[in-house]
Amino acid sequence: MQLSTKHLLGIRELVPRDIQLILDTATQFKEVLQRPIKKVPSLRDVTIVNLFYENSTRTRISFELAEKRLSADTINFSASGSSVSKGETLLDTVNNILSMKVDMVVMRHSASGAPHFLAKHIPAAIVNAGDGINEHPTQALLDAFSIREKLGTLEGKKIAIIGDIMHSRVALSNLYLLKKMGAEVMVAGPPTLIPTYMKEAFDVRVEYNLQKALEWCDVANVLRIQLERQNQVLFSSLREYNLAYGVKKSLLDRLDKEIIVMHPGPINRGVELDSDVADSKQSIILQQVENGVAVRMAVLYLLAGRGESQNN
Ligand code: ASP
Repeated sequence: MQLSTKHLLGIRELVPRDIQLILDTATQFKEVLQRPIKKVPSLRDVTIVNLFYENSTRTRISFELAEKRLSADTINFSASGSSVSKGETLLDTVNNILSMKVDMVVMRHSASGAPHFLAKHIPAAIVNAGDGINEHPTQALLDAFSIREKLGTLEGKKIAIIGDIMHSRVALSNLYLLKKMGAEVMVAGPPTLIPTYMKEAFDVRVEYNLQKALEWCDVANVLRIQLERQNQVLFSSLREYNLAYGVKKSLLDRLDKEIIVMHPGPINRGVELDSDVADSKQSIILQQVENGVAVRMAVLYLLAGRGESQNN
């Protein structure tokens, strides 16, 4: 089976069958990653450039590792220390890299739509590794994979996305994905951080009370306050944010069930999530990171058109 798209620009562009295919392929790659030799030759004739114009820890390491596990040749580019500081345009940078015969570009950029722009102008397959406040598709895919691994399915499961919904590309990609896969979705947080269009556009529940959100959900996906993307004051202080919206053990202990806690990282401990929750057995944060490699292997493998051949 093949994906219906040449690029992974966002979950918005995928059909449910694509999502299913990526998650199923990732299950096979997760099995590869448990073997003593965690490597397959699937992409040994493919060259991939990782183009990071914005900071990243997990996503960047995860893509690099996925590429290496698939035996691809990789090149790493970061904007700092490059000719970007000399005034080179994005398109010039990428065309120069492509003239060295690169097949795929994994790209993170602070401008929403940057990977879509590239996809219109260059022949390589583009994977969006996070663009501004728009999408972070592989994060939503690994979140979905992790939920499916825990609960068996996404369909009918109650997922609350909690925190800075307005500036989070993780929130948007999760919303598209979860709705396409039949989950029940709630966005929760302070009214100033939840865009009013969301309720109707996505047909989601909106909740401003954290305790009620936690009582409703099976899974709480807790998001970081994106201070670097906020140019106005949307809440009084990080301390007050923690008091009203920080996920704490005392809140979870009041529930009559055990919910799953997720976070895409980096965590601001003591702001959106307290340490006694982040490090508890209810938290699957490190499993999300582990699953990220298998999911990214699946995305790269399928975009390289290897969907019908053997992966080992
Ligand atoms: N790492 C995620 C992202 O790049 C989440 C975050 O930064 O809060 O969007």
